[in-house]
Amino acid sequence: MPTKIRVRFAPSPTGPLHIGGVRTALYNYLFAKKNKGTFVLRIEDTDQNRYVQGAEQYIIDALNWCQIPFDEGPGKEGAFGPYRQSERQHLYKKYADVLIERGKAYYAFDTTEKLDFHRKNHEEQGKTFIYNWHNRLKLDNSLSMMPEEVQRRITAGEDYVIRFLTPPDEKLTLLDTVRGTMIIDTNVLDDKVLFKSDGMPTYHLANIVDDHLMEITHVIRGEEWLPSLALHQQLYDAFEWKAPEFAHLPLIMKPVGKGKLSKRDGEKLGFPVFPLSWKESDGYKEKGYFPEAVINFLALLGWNPGTEQEVFTLEELVELFTLERVQKSGARFDPDKTKWYNQHYLQEKNNFELIPAFQELLSKHGVLNQDAHHLEKIISLIKERATFVSDFWELSNYFFTGPTFYEDKAVKKQWKEESSEIMNNLLPVLNAIEDFSSLTIERIVKDWITSQDYSFGKVMPPLRLVIVGDMKGPHIFDIIALIGKEPTMQRIKTAIAVLT
Ligand code: GLU
Repeated sequence: MPTKIRVRFAPSPTGPLHIGGVRTALYNYLFAKKNKGTFVLRIEDTDQNRYVQGAEQYIIDALNWCQIPFDEGPGKEGAFGPYRQSERQHLYKKYADVLIERGKAYYAFDTTEKLDFHRKNHEEQGKTFIYNWHNRLKLDNSLSMMPEEVQRRITAGEDYVIRFLTPPDEKLTLLDTVRGTMIIDTNVLDDKVLFKSDGMPTYHLANIVDDHLMEITHVIRGEEWLPSLALHQQLYDAFEWKAPEFAHLPLIMKPVGKGKLSKRDGEKLGFPVFPLSWKESDGYKEKGYFPEAVINFLALLGWNPGTEQEVFTLEELVELFTLERVQKSGARFDPDKTKWYNQHYLQEKNNFELIPAFQELLSKHGVLNQDAHHLEKIISLIKERATFVSDFWELSNYFFTGPTFYEDKAVKKQWKEESSEIMNNLLPVLNAIEDFSSLTIERIVKDWITSQDYSFGKVMPPLRLVIVGDMKGPHIFDIIALIGKEPTMQRIKTAIAVLT
C-alpha cells in the first residue's frame, strides 16, 4: 500500500499569522488535498516565553476563514494527538536520552554568563563564537569531563542542556524539492541545543520527534527554516528514521525595493499583512477582501501553473498544485494585484449574496430598511465599478438621498441659462409616465426632446447633474427608474431652486 500523504502546518503561537504563514498553510493544504492526504495543524508552543494569548485561536480562525481547514489538530483529534507540543512535553526527554546513549548528543553545563563571556570575547577579536568541534572540548560538557563528574553534577541538580554532537569533516547531502541538492560541510555547523534546562525540548528536537511520530511525509515550510535542514537531516539519521521530503518555500518580498515583506510595508503602503484583524490592525477580512481573492493571490506568490491562467478556484488549485512548480526565487508581493483579484471575485458574486454586507454598510450611513430587490438592482448597476463592497456607498449614495451639493465643475460646464426652463418643462412629462421603468422613461423623454427640438446635450447632462449631483453614475434612466417618480421630480425642483 502506498504511504498516505501527511503534511503539517506547525506555527508557533507567538502572535497573529502573517500572510506568509497563510501561504505556507495554503501550500500544505493544496498538497494534502491533491494527494488525498491529511493536513495537520500542530501548535509549536514549547517556548513559553514567546507564547501569546489568543494566537492559537487566531490561527485556527484564519485557516477557517480562508477555507483551508485542517483535518487533524487541536479540537479535531485524530490518531496522532495531542497536537499542541506543550501537551506532548513528557515525550521528548526520552528521545534526547536516546541520542545521548548513541553518542550523538551530550550534556552541557556552561552557564549563560560563561557563554556570554565567550561570545563577547570572540566579538572583540572580530570573530563569532560557535559551539562546535573547534572548542567544545574546552567547554563545560560531558565530552570534556570524566563520566563521574557528569553524574555528580546531574545528581546535584545542576542546570544542563543537551546539545547535538555535530560530526566534523563530513559533507552532508541535503535534498529539497524546490532547491534540489545542497552539500553542506559539517564543520560550519554549531552544536545546537536540543533540550533546555527548563525541561522543554527546543524547536529542533520537538519538531523532528513530532514529524516522525505524526508520520509526516512532506515538510513544506518557509525558506527561513532552510538553515535548520542540515541539523534536521542529521537528527533523522541519528534516530535512524526515514526523513520526510522537504520543500522550502521562497520568501515573500516587499512590493518595492529589497528585502522581505514586513508589517511596516503594509502600514506604509496601506495594505493588510494579516488575514484577520489583530489588535489595531485590520486584516484582509476586515478590509473587505473575499477569502477566494486572498487564496488566489497567495497561491501565485511562489507557485505558477505553467500557463497564463491567473484566476483559480480552490478546487482548480488543488487539481493543479505540485511542489515542482514552486519557484526558488523570492516572490514579489503586489498589493494592486490583490485588489484586482478582489474586484474579479466581486463581479463573480451573485448580487443577492452581497446584500447583507451592503445593508450593513448602508446602516452605517443611516440608511435603513431597504427592500432587498431594490438593493439588488442598485448593486447590478454599480458593481462593475467596485473593488470592495465598501466602495458601494461612494458609488450608490445618490440612490438613497438627493444631492447635498452640485459638483462645481459640472455646474459650470452643464448648467446653462436655459437649463432651468428645460428641467421645468420636463416635470409634467415625467409626471405623466405611468409605467415608470427605465425603458419607458427613456423612450418618452427622448421623444419629448426630439419633439421640442432640443439637443440631447442640452437635456441629458443637466438632468444627470440634478439627479446625481455630478456627472458620474450608470445609465441615467436606470437611476431615475430606481429612485422613483416623486423623488426624481423633487430633485429636479430642488435643483432648479438652488442652481438658478
Ligand atoms: N514552529 C515553526 C514556525 O513557527 C515551524 C517550522 C517548521 O515548519 O518546521 O514556523
